[in-house]
Amino acid sequence: MSSVVRVLVIEDEAPIQELLRYSLEQAGFAVTVVTTAEQGLAEIRSELPSVLLLDLMLPGMSGVALAKQLRSDARTRDLPLIMVTARAEETDRVGGLETGADDYVTKPFSPKELVSRIRAVLRRRTPHLAGNPVDIGGVRLDPSAHTVTVAGQPVDLGPTEFELLQYLMHHPNRAMTREQLLNALRGDHAALMDRTVDVYVRRLRAALGPTGETMIETVRGTGYKLTCPPQ
Ligand code: CA
Repeated sequence: MSSVVRVLVIEDEAPIQELLRYSLEQAGFAVTVVTTAEQGLAEIRSELPSVLLLDLMLPGMSGVALAKQLRSDARTRDLPLIMVTARAEETDRVGGLETGADDYVTKPFSPKELVSRIRAVLRRRTPHLAGNPVDIGGVRLDPSAHTVTVAGQPVDLGPTEFELLQYLMHHPNRAMTREQLLNALRGDHAALMDRTVDVYVRRLRAALGPTGETMIETVRGTGYKLTCPPQ
C-alpha cells in the first residue's frame, strides 16, 4: 500500500549506515542507504524519496555540493532534506542550512530524536505524508487507516488513485500541473507519461461519483484542481 515514507540515506560510515537503517526501519520508514552523493543522485533520478538524510562529509561530491545541485533543480527543489554532520564540522552547520537543508543533526545523534526531526520536516514540507485525516466537502481521507469515505460511505480506491486524492486534498484550490501530480505519485516515475495522470484522474472521479466530478476540475492547459465547495 501507499503512504509509506521513503527515506534515502547518503552516508559513508558503515556503523552509522547500520544505525540509521535499523532505527528508521523501526520507525516504519522504507530505507535506502547509499555511500556516495553520486549514487544518491542516481537513486533520486530514478525515484524521488520522501526525505533525504545527507551526510556532509562524503568521498567524492560533498553533501553541500549535492544539496546545492538538488535545490537548483525544479524537480528536487522541494525535496525535504536533513543534513547529518560530525561535531568537528560545526562550522559547516550554517553552510548546510544555507544550501537549503530543512534541518540538521549532529553526530552522535539519538535515533529517537532523528525520527522526530524527520516527522517534523515532513509535517512542514509534505503534510500529505504526515498521517492526519482530511475532510473536504463531504470527502474524508484517513491516511493511517487508508480509507476514503464520501458522505460517510466507504469508497474503494486503487493505491495510485488514493495517493492522487491525498495530494489534491492537501493542495486544494490550486491548479496542479500533470508533472506535479506525477511527482506526487509514489515519488517520481520518470517513465510515466502526462496522459497517465488523466487516466488516474478519470478513475478517481468515477470512484467518488458525482462529488468527484464537481470537486476535481480540469484546468485547461495546466492540469487539475480540487475545489473546496462553499460551506
Ligand atoms: Ca562522512
